[in-house]
Amino acid sequence: MSERLFAEACAVIPGGVNSPARAFASVGGTPRFITEAQGCWLTDADGHRYVDLVCSWGPMILGHAHPAVVAAVREAAGAGLSFGAPTRTETELAAEIIARVPAVHKVRLVNSGTEATMSALRLARGFTGRAKVIKFSGCYHGHVDALLADAGSGVATLALPSSPGVTGATAADTIVLPYNDVDAVRAAFVEFGDQIAAVITEASPGNMGVVPPSPGFNAELRSITAEYGALLIIDEVMTGFRVSARGWYGIDPVEADLFTFGKVISGGLPAAAFGGRAEVMDRLAPLGPVYQAGTLSGNPVATAAGLATLRTADDDVYAALDKNADRLTAMLAEAFTAAGVPHQIPRAGNMFSVFFADEPVTDFAAARASATWRFPAFFHAMLEAGVYLPCSPFEAWFVSAALTDEAFDQIAAALPAAAHAAATTPEPKS
Ligand SMILES: *Cc1c(COP(=O)(O)O)cnc(C)c1O
Repeated sequence: MSERLFAEACAVIPGGVNSPARAFASVGGTPRFITEAQGCWLTDADGHRYVDLVCSWGPMILGHAHPAVVAAVREAAGAGLSFGAPTRTETELAAEIIARVPAVHKVRLVNSGTEATMSALRLARGFTGRAKVIKFSGCYHGHVDALLADAGSGVATLALPSSPGVTGATAADTIVLPYNDVDAVRAAFVEFGDQIAAVITEASPGNMGVVPPSPGFNAELRSITAEYGALLIIDEVMTGFRVSARGWYGIDPVEADLFTFGKVISGGLPAAAFGGRAEVMDRLAPLGPVYQAGTLSGNPVATAAGLATLRTADDDVYAALDKNADRLTAMLAEAFTAAGVPHQIPRAGNMFSVFFADEPVTDFAAARASATWRFPAFFHAMLEAGVYLPCSPFEAWFVSAALTDEAFDQIAAALPAAAHAAATTPEPKS
């Protein structure tokens, strides 16, 4: 059934998918068409059930169709889908974000993480009157023209160096540096210091696989940007309100000028946000001259879903997320060790990913140099056995608080054969 649906989709949608990360480009085979999801389980169009370790690429920390979130969405939808006028829920969601991340004084809601980073970058340029931006190789900030260079996520999976359609002029203002390399940042500022509007970084990168910042890296970015009058933009679209109640800020509280949020704050509907220091945020229209807008921004149904998700995500939920990640990574390490396959399972709170590598992976070059050719066989063995993993070695795995013992049993049953498949895949001749 998924095969037929995929063929039908390919006839009318490029590649059959509305986001390349969903295509099985690097693992081969047919993406599963999902018909329903409850808790930690996905059901596909053929009636197969999978333990979901993708969680819609992060948002579903409570599991799917959580009763509190579904009830909030039903109530909001019953009261009208969109007004194009302010609603109280928008203020409540903004206040909830500010309460969790005190470095954020004001928030604007948008519709996607891409819009959040695009807007934050425009605001940083408008605020500083400078053009250049530093981003890191392997970090993904959505498909913003200026930030696609050497990006992670689907750009990495498809091994695209950059994207046609991004003009040289746009890309010329982007300085791409290796991740975790403070010296490279310093050198760029020595050369271009008075032209750099901002450094943008993933709070803890999860789009080249999980590659956490080395201790003090974000703090160094804070002090270097401050020294040169540039802004620091910390992209918490993936980590925000997932890795702790305060996101990565709760683990590594670096006071950026601007933060971006998405994924979890929408509870699974399209919503995202950017926020930061009042002095910077107040440069936005209508208060200031930096224009930014959205017909559906702050949508009442999406904000209700986000608010219900955040309010339900109490300490017990975050403890369960951490515990589930501990349990899962221990199972993975055991299976890979038993199969004799070299592996690294880097963690960022409850996010983690798997690299088939001997040495810790600290940047994109090392991620790319890992034995990614082992991944497709591992992925398909897990999928066949009812475990739905991210379909790329460059993506983070996402647990929910809804994982059950039955789900862990299904994962445990799947792992030995899948680890063996990874271990016995021959290295392709180049
Ligand atoms: C997912 C992601 C984005 C883009 O968000 P979209 O909603 O997909 O546009 C931006 N930054 C990071 C760190 C992300 O993980």
